[in-house]
Amino acid sequence: MSDPLRVAVAVETPQHAGLARTLDYRADRAIAPGTLLRVPLGRRTVTALSWDVAPADAAAEPVPRELKPVAEVWDALPALPARWRQLIEFAAQYYQRGLGELAMSVLPPELKRLTGVQLSRRLKRWSRPSDAPATRSPGQAAQQTWASAPQLSPEQRAALDQWAQASAEGAAPVLLHGVTGSGKTEVYLRCAQEALDAGRQVLMLVPEINLTPQLMQRVQERFAQHRVVAMHSGLTPAQRLQAWVGAHLGHADIVLGTRLAVFTPLPQLGLIVVDEEHDPSFKQQEGARYSARDLAVYRGRLERARVILGSATPSLESWQRAAEGRYQRLSLSQRIGQGPMPQLRVVDMNRLPRAVGKPPPALSPELLQALELCRSRGEQSLLLLNRRGYAPVLHCTACSWKSQCDHCSAWRVFHKTDRTLRCHHCGHTERVPRACPECGNVDVQPIGRGTEKLEEQIMALVPQARVARIDADTTRAQGALNAQMAAVHEGQVDVLVGTQMVTKGHDFRRVTLVAAVNPDAALFASDFRATERLFALLLQAAGRAGRDPRHAAHSQMWVQTWHPHHPVFAALRACDYEAFAREQLSERQQAGLPPFVHLALVRAQAPQAVQAQAFLQAAAQAAQALRQHASATTAAAAQAVQVYPPVPSTLARVADMDRVQMLVESASRGALQQFLAAWHPALQALKTQHRAVVRWAIDVDPLDI
Ligand code: ADP
Ligand code: ZN
Ligand code: ZN
Repeated sequence: MSDPLRVAVAVETPQHAGLARTLDYRADRAIAPGTLLRVPLGRRTVTALSWDVAPADAAAEPVPRELKPVAEVWDALPALPARWRQLIEFAAQYYQRGLGELAMSVLPPELKRLTGVQLSRRLKRWSRPSDAPATRSPGQAAQQTWASAPQLSPEQRAALDQWAQASAEGAAPVLLHGVTGSGKTEVYLRCAQEALDAGRQVLMLVPEINLTPQLMQRVQERFAQHRVVAMHSGLTPAQRLQAWVGAHLGHADIVLGTRLAVFTPLPQLGLIVVDEEHDPSFKQQEGARYSARDLAVYRGRLERARVILGSATPSLESWQRAAEGRYQRLSLSQRIGQGPMPQLRVVDMNRLPRAVGKPPPALSPELLQALELCRSRGEQSLLLLNRRGYAPVLHCTACSWKSQCDHCSAWRVFHKTDRTLRCHHCGHTERVPRACPECGNVDVQPIGRGTEKLEEQIMALVPQARVARIDADTTRAQGALNAQMAAVHEGQVDVLVGTQMVTKGHDFRRVTLVAAVNPDAALFASDFRATERLFALLLQAAGRAGRDPRHAAHSQMWVQTWHPHHPVFAALRACDYEAFAREQLSERQQAGLPPFVHLALVRAQAPQAVQAQAFLQAAAQAAQALRQHASATTAAAAQAVQVYPPVPSTLARVADMDRVQMLVESASRGALQQFLAAWHPALQALKTQHRAVVRWAIDVDPLDI
């Protein structure tokens, strides 16, 4: 028998267990790094990944007897490539998570559930000829696929020419700024074609796949000769595993997925597309809080794959990088068919006639008229209201009772359809009370308006109109969204009421009127990104109107507001993203905000705010101590970082836990990274003294502040 060997294994351990990056095990034969294993951990046996080969000097040392042996080696699955492991290493380090935790959390969950025998059986089944992917034969495929591709517009051609010029190795990521309907998708498809022709794989990331079934369809139609797989959390575990295995084995040519797909192993990766790159859903909001967009850029460099970030309203981070020359900017300034962007109509709600003591009407008379006109022309309108439910709060007309959630610092929302009061944060749901729970008064009234109420009002005000509502409540059932969208596309709906869900990426052909019914809340939100988000939302929404060039000239975007002179509306009127970005960036620079500084947030939750605060204060002291650290580089990094006092989060209490956060800021990303790496162990140690803190996390480049 040969001498035992030492293998470093990435094991899923909780982030705060304070364990080393990998654990050592004993093996009786060499195991390639990146191989799936089963190893003992405590009393369990868990799925894990072999990570490093022991360095030569360590390999010479005898392997300690107390090391536990690897239980199983699943080498039926080829080892995950070195570059995949590098991506995981980077992400774990950058986002301050355990290596094993991150590595295992991005693998398909099914891998961890199967036995080795089951996995081998599936792998065998998927490699049978009947299930094998269409073979890649570039020349042949090209003939047929080009048939369905449209003639490029001059702007698309120019963008693609520029793309081709930069195609040498090490090309900078491209930021494709194209107004809605300018044909960005066609540009992605041509770039994908180029990568496929070169025998490479393509990764396309989209914010939410359910919202963009059209894209999947377009990709599948265009690349009928190639194997396209989807990768998102809506798949069954078995489907997801199959897609993942196909990608890893190099059978899948195109992976179309949501943020988690950024970690798909792709041995021949040649192109990464990030569509709607500004969308906040590319940032994971729990566990490892990674940005799939930022990792896509990193991965592109790592794997020598080209990267396109596309948007009509790029994030200011990306815009600034393009301005600094770190990204190459390509523009599409015209809608396909040369149709103009919809005309903006801002309604000043202060000027509406209103009855004393009555709440203002949902829709101004002008907007109602416009809706009616639109319907009479046989065209569709889309009303945007970013609040689902019937009313955001119920109140008692006799006493001061309001439908506060018992567990959160939030109102419970009145849902009329099923007569419930629901907290949208902790999920707590109750029947609507018949009378005020405080004083017994039966006159309990809704305040404000959500999509359910708006839908009801439209039905009353425009009785001839066929009204539909699309929001998280109406689309919960599998396939519901597709069915509803199909009804809209087939013209069975005159007025579509919806949350921001309906603004994303849909190619509506008959919509000529879009209205933001009440976007004001975002104007005064505390988050410094609120204006940027609102502008993006409204411009995306406007982009849903007049997509058919025949109707573009009379298409309209309506905004009802109590603050008609807010600068965001002026920028919207001009449809001038560039001017908006310029102004926002100069404000951010003056205020010392991202992208000019780099942020991290430490978030902590405890039953009482003081407990979370005490933990964060101790963390701040630990940061202070690092400034006198023995290592000069650590001390210098800590000095280049500012730690602000802890404050309650915007939503101060959720599910009986108080949330407190502490902002960490530096002008240097490198210093911030170095500081966080040195600080993290101190926080882990502090956590053991602050037992009341049930959860804490570092959020690097946080989106919600
Ligand atoms: P974007 O992604 O920029 O919003 P799309 O790629 O969805 O725009 O394009 C808008 C519409 O124009 C789509 O219906 C698409 O099929 C069509 N289109 C795109 N490029 C062309 C072209 N070169 N010729 C004709 N139609 C095109
Ligand atoms: Zn009451
Ligand atoms: Zn709640």
